[in-house]
Amino acid sequence: MQAASMVRMSQVHKRFGMREVLSDIDLSVQAGEVCCLVGPSGAGKSTLIRCINYLEKIDGGSIHVNGQLVGYKLHKGRLHELSEREAGRSRADTAMVFQHFNLFPHLSVMENIVEAPIHVRKESRAAAQAHARELLARVGLEDREKAYPRELSGGQKQRVAIARALAMRPKLLLFDEPTSALDPELVGEVLSVMRSLAQEGQTMIIVTHEIGFAREVADTLVFMDQGKIVERDTPARLIDRPQSARAQAFFNSILK
Ligand code: ADP
Ligand code: MG
Repeated sequence: MQAASMVRMSQVHKRFGMREVLSDIDLSVQAGEVCCLVGPSGAGKSTLIRCINYLEKIDGGSIHVNGQLVGYKLHKGRLHELSEREAGRSRADTAMVFQHFNLFPHLSVMENIVEAPIHVRKESRAAAQAHARELLARVGLEDREKAYPRELSGGQKQRVAIARALAMRPKLLLFDEPTSALDPELVGEVLSVMRSLAQEGQTMIIVTHEIGFAREVADTLVFMDQGKIVERDTPARLIDRPQSARAQAFFNSILK
């Protein structure tokens, strides 16, 4: 069982100044699992997935991704923080898709996608471009490789961002509210790409307010509030029969 854990967070604590924003987080996500993370604004959802990607350092506990300790190495029985370069390498199994796409505005779609494979993964330009074309076809944008981000709709930009994340061949894909910045009519095209990734067995942790999508796609649903994991269950059970008053209030407010 443990060998197949893609993510293992154990007693993770994170503070900003005096404020504890993650308390005692224990979370395991298996290879091939889709885990959706929901909860009110300020619950710590973004911070949690940023810690997994080592965009934030934790103050206690440990995080393993694909069996590797995130941000630290064990040397002669003691933990040492990784250098920036080592951290970059250890981040290679994970890719993240952000709410605001974070595409490079001065680079074309193709250049956005091949940047990291060429410079971080040291792929040849030809190989990176061939892979990028495959990925663009997968997200339904095969004819847009020469476009610039400003020429694309929000839904198209987010699909490019997903292709760019996949270009790193990540074992784990993290999404932070990938459809929250989109006009309602563009949400579906992004969710549909994510749904197909789920069907292909991509391990994903998705912070989302799209409860219908979470119900359909997630293997596990996690409800967070005030820096804690309050409940974790199958989406059907958690959405329909939340145990805690906090989860009940949350699902009532967003489902009405
Ligand atoms: P969520 O994504 O669930 O809305 P966040 O993880 O963004 O929550 O934030 C959790 C808490 O941590 C919030 O109170 C937020 O204000 C605080 N926080 C987030 N990032 C920082 C930061 N860089 N510095 C200080 N406080 C932060
Ligand atoms: Mg957030």
